[in-house]
Amino acid sequence: MTIHVVDPGPPGAGLVWRPSQSRRLLMNTVASQVTVFTDASVTIEGPLEEGPSLYQWAASLAARDPRALVAGRDAPGEAVLAQARALGPDSYPTRVLYGQYLSWVFHHVTGKAAGHVTVRVHRARAVRLADGDRGLGGAGPQTVVLEDGTELSGLSAVVLAQGHTPTTADAAERELPAFASRNGLVHIAPSSPADVDLSRIAPGQTVLVRGLGLNFFDCMALFTQGRGGFFERVEGRLVYRPSGREPALYAGSRRGVPYQARGENEKGRPRALPSQAADGRVRRRSLSRPVRHRSVAADRPGSAVRLLRDADRPPPRPGRRGRVRRRVAPRSATRTVPPSSRRRASCRGLTGLSVRPERMRGNTEATGGQLVSERVPAVLAPALGKAAAKQVLSDASAAATADGRPLADVLAEVPQVRGRFTRAELAALLDPAAYTGVAAELVDRAPA
Ligand SMILES: Cc1cc2nc3c(=O)[nH]c(=O)nc-3n(C[C@H](O)[C@H](O)[C@H](O)COP(=O)(O)OP(=O)(O)OC[C@H]3O[C@@H](n4cnc5c(N)ncnc54)[C@H](O)[C@@H]3O)c2cc1C
Repeated sequence: MTIHVVDPGPPGAGLVWRPSQSRRLLMNTVASQVTVFTDASVTIEGPLEEGPSLYQWAASLAARDPRALVAGRDAPGEAVLAQARALGPDSYPTRVLYGQYLSWVFHHVTGKAAGHVTVRVHRARAVRLADGDRGLGGAGPQTVVLEDGTELSGLSAVVLAQGHTPTTADAAERELPAFASRNGLVHIAPSSPADVDLSRIAPGQTVLVRGLGLNFFDCMALFTQGRGGFFERVEGRLVYRPSGREPALYAGSRRGVPYQARGENEKGRPRALPSQAADGRVRRRSLSRPVRHRSVAADRPGSAVRLLRDADRPPPRPGRRGRVRRRVAPRSATRTVPPSSRRRASCRGLTGLSVRPERMRGNTEATGGQLVSERVPAVLAPALGKAAAKQVLSDASAAATADGRPLADVLAEVPQVRGRFTRAELAALLDPAAYTGVAAELVDRAPA
């Protein structure tokens, strides 16, 4: 049996995780939660193949365990070993390190292949897949054509696992390059920043980044640390020291709400969300600590300066049943009060800025809850499975849009949701005010 592996990227790692990319680019999954092996927790038809997670493999590599190396190949360089040594189970690994792990897995798995199996690697893009014999109605062996003209024929099965494929530009996106060239600007089409030549962006040049997701964080890393800037710990806090070669970054997002940050490993510990009891009923999680983050829009009408001035107030005491009364400034603000001189300077800088709660609420509620529906699949997944939970949300969102109804109303009627969540619980889940993640902490840190 011959297995052809076709990928322009290195086998195992592929393009996304190629070890040749910048080590400034990080994964958004912590090391102990990343593995390509199976264990008893996985239900599959084939045999379970146990093996180390990324974290376990990196620990073996750091300990110079020969089993973590690819036989007959040079050991990874000192930069990779240093990353492996520094990696903790809750660290966010570099994509380079994950690429090294995937390369090791590839050689580990193919090295264990049965004697009758030959694996052939083609570092090329496949450009055509021809179906089998037309006379047999498409049945029979298939052919894959590579961009260099190589034909892999007589294939009894073809598995397509292309990951994220490029998108076709829509009308608005097609107009942007022309607009940019008419106005002497540079336009970079939607793509992974790792795959784009960013060196043509000069220091100090203004860069507008569309969206606040993964690509924004990649851009930010490449334009800051990637250009020689670095972080220094000063009095327990990280301070960025610029290199002077950074452009000026402006970022915007259609939702206007940043994604919830993943500063710590919080998987499986959603805060302030309804949790599901063993009997399938949903009940409120009893919080061992007060809810720390509340919406700036909901809690702080008036001037944003108040937020800083009120930072000296003592935190509110939890009332009966552990509930916290509304507070003007978040608890975290009272713990990380910047020195008064800096705070005064920050207040001066913010004078004139004001929060318009009604406007913000109007914007966030314009989609009837769809804007903040990211948590819905997360709370449904334990009962329905990830894919079904996503499908429920997708169908409900489509129905809500079509009928112009609030998402919570539609969800409350979905059979898989009814009985698990009340209408009130769904409304709470879709409340933008409970959706600000660590935004309050970021606000606190900004003046530092
Ligand atoms: C920049 C980026 C960062 C990510 N970070 C994370 C993360 O931190 N954690 C996480 O869980 N997920 C992350 N993801 C999601 C990621 O897609 C998955 O984790 C995982 O890589 C998906 O594996 P895959 O094998 O399906 O696809 P991929 O890993 O994308 O592999 C697909 C491969 O197919 C190849 N290919 C595509 N078309 C062709 C063709 N025509 N011919 C030949 N080869 C082709 C590509 O070169 C690529 O190597 C990230 C994705 C991206 C793009």
